[in-house]
Amino acid sequence: MKLILLGPPGAGKGTQAKMLTEKFAIPQISTGDILRAAVKEQTDLGIKAKQFMDAGQLVPDEVVIGIVSERLQAEDCANGFILDGFPRTVAQADALRDVLNELGKQLDKVLSLTVDTEALVVRLTGRRTCSQCGKGYHIRFDPPPSDGRCVCSGELFQREDDQEATIRNRLAVYDEQTSPLINYYRQAGLLVELDGMLAIAAVQERILSALQAG
Ligand code: ADP
Ligand code: ADP
Ligand code: ZN
Repeated sequence: MKLILLGPPGAGKGTQAKMLTEKFAIPQISTGDILRAAVKEQTDLGIKAKQFMDAGQLVPDEVVIGIVSERLQAEDCANGFILDGFPRTVAQADALRDVLNELGKQLDKVLSLTVDTEALVVRLTGRRTCSQCGKGYHIRFDPPPSDGRCVCSGELFQREDDQEATIRNRLAVYDEQTSPLINYYRQAGLLVELDGMLAIAAVQERILSALQAG
């Protein structure tokens, strides 16, 4: 299964991708997670990416394209993968097409999650993430255990870019640079549009039936 999860920040891409990795035993490739790990380790990549991420801007195309094309060649992608947060520009989508062509692979579907802007802001301001295993929570919609820690007992944190001002920037960047990909993949015949306003479990059900429909 070779999938893209498309949608604005807070649409539920990471939440759904995590469920799909377990279901299909294929890796989640989250460019956001890869970049945040690099920032934490203060690698050259991390130092370069941090300024863009803090401002809610996209990291330059050539940087993320390099990361993903390398990642897609790893052995664990042999049976498929779920791209979460990539591509985010038409240039990234074109580069992905070329990389997959070279590898002789084809995307199965692009799952596009649609969510109202104000709901996205509520989701992102209430998002919490486990510092140990990366699992996501929401203080209202998917609350952590009563001790305030992850099920793995890891400590939860709030992402620095999940502040309202940065969130608004990220949503504007999505509208300008990423939303054209909806038409891009519609024209390629790969797009499946899903109502991302539904509860987490209901979205998951719809994704699974869309994938079974072939
Ligand atoms: P993305 O990866 O698209 O930015 P996340 O999966 O991190 O989004 O979800 C953003 C926040 O919204 C998280 O706190 C998550 O728990 C919550 N969330 C995800 N899906 C839903 C949903 N269907 N309904 C309500 N809250 C959701
Ligand atoms: P969200 O889904 O909540 O927007 P991500 O974790 O996917 O968050 O991305 C966080 C940040 O990492 C983005 O605001 C951007 O700065 C950077 N980033 C992630 N993926 C990409 C990408 N494909 N292209 C450029 N920048 C990216
Ligand atoms: Zn955890």
